[in-house]
Amino acid sequence: MGVSFKCGICEEYRRFEDVIRVYDTPKELRLIEWPCWCWQCDDVSLAEYVPEPGEVASEARAWRARDRKRDFYIACGPYGYREKEREPETMEYYDAVLEWRLGRRSRSRCLFCESTMVSLAASLYGQFEHPWCGGMIQTYISIFFGIRQMPLATYSSEGIKLSERMVIA
Ligand SMILES: [Zn+2]
Ligand SMILES: [Zn+2]
Repeated sequence: MGVSFKCGICEEYRRFEDVIRVYDTPKELRLIEWPCWCWQCDDVSLAEYVPEPGEVASEARAWRARDRKRDFYIACGPYGYREKEREPETMEYYDAVLEWRLGRRSRSRCLFCESTMVSLAASLYGQFEHPWCGGMIQTYISIFFGIRQMPLATYSSEGIKLSERMVIA
């Protein structure tokens, strides 16, 4: 379970367990996690992905158009069944994300040290450079299907961690 990173040259390896991360906003929003190099941790880390307002709007449009070639980061994409019934709540979700984004002042933060000195990977599961050695860091995702206990962490709308507790998910 979780996400791990390995450098192709120096074999630097780091692994992060799954945590459900949400913002403490009026409507609970899922924090988008993104691989990054954190200059304060001086290590591979996970950062928030803070989408541009235009990206929120364009993903919502793509959802309505059922564009299945697009990668959906902000909400679950229009896959699976009952997408028509899910559309109104999904559009409300995008509206809430846009409202949060318009009020957001800080840049993306590292999820562990809260620094904004992070270089986000160009794509969610793509490679990115390891500044120590110039090698490329590869991302590996392992997915768990089933019910288990996992941590739920709540962050302020500016990306500061507020609390964490165990939940069944
Ligand atoms: Zn390396
Ligand atoms: Zn950090």
